[in-house]
Amino acid sequence: MLKIGTVRWRGKCSKHPMFDPYTDGRGAVKGGCPRCNALADIHECHQRMVSLMRGFSPPVVRKKPSVPMDDLQESLF
Ligand SMILES: [Zn+2]
Repeated sequence: MLKIGTVRWRGKCSKHPMFDPYTDGRGAVKGGCPRCNALADIHECHQRMVSLMRGFSPPVVRKKPSVPMDDLQESLF
């Protein structure tokens, strides 16, 4: 069995604090900056890990309690 707890992590390049690998992509790394490239590597590994986890065990879809739709509109009139 493998257990992975919740991980909250933040990383920022001091030279390029606006670089966001999620929205900018690796192509936006300026001058081959090693810190920005490391952020892009971490982002790619995280995306792959999430994809592998979802492939192994798809997320459980919780059903919302059903509300009869017929009664909702009557209160407006
Ligand atoms: Zn950088």
